[in-house]
Amino acid sequence: MPTTLLDLILPRECGGCARVDASWCPACAGALDVAPGPVRPRVDPGVPCWALGPYAGPHRASILAMKERGRRDLAAPLGVALAAAVTRLRDAGEIDPPELSPLVLVPAPSRRRAARARGGDPILRTCRRVARVLASEDVRVEPLLRVDSRVRDSVGLTADERADNLRGRVHVRRAGIAAIGRGPVLLVDDVVTTGTTAAESVAALRRSGVGVDAVLVLAAVR
Ligand SMILES: [Zn+2]
Repeated sequence: MPTTLLDLILPRECGGCARVDASWCPACAGALDVAPGPVRPRVDPGVPCWALGPYAGPHRASILAMKERGRRDLAAPLGVALAAAVTRLRDAGEIDPPELSPLVLVPAPSRRRAARARGGDPILRTCRRVARVLASEDVRVEPLLRVDSRVRDSVGLTADERADNLRGRVHVRRAGIAAIGRGPVLLVDDVVTTGTTAAESVAALRRSGVGVDAVLVLAAVR
């Protein structure tokens, strides 16, 4: 099927189910509008880890559409879903309420070349959406993390290979550290698989004096 400019500007199928003539349908919105559940990845990041569901159905489809097919528009509904999750975690007492402390969202690192190829980093874009949805609060997005150029795409790697691929290769951008205040810090990613990315990210931030309170992801591979 030929791709026209209009197709790129106006996605004509739901990013979660591909069934309907809308970029994001109410059924998929409902599937992600849930209380985040605790997950225990094989590699323990050492802080609580929360996911909006298993890596299946609309969770998986929307992440793939965003990452592999350049569906930038999905940052908006996924940002809404993650913002609701943040509010639920606060209501449940898992993170401090906004009147006590501003919230810092740190997007998980992505390979720079991969991000460039898909028109920007989708996790960063989604985090910025979260901050926009929660605009009445002091929510800051600090893209503090990067991976070095030796890191390969993790698709197809075993758990051990993923760990080797990332070990010691997540780095903190010093420039952003000063912006971190006293508030809770959430590491945000699209999917947690083995937990390696989260664990390396939490460890790298800790070495830089930034304590991560929790990891929040759209989906968890179980
Ligand atoms: Zn849908």
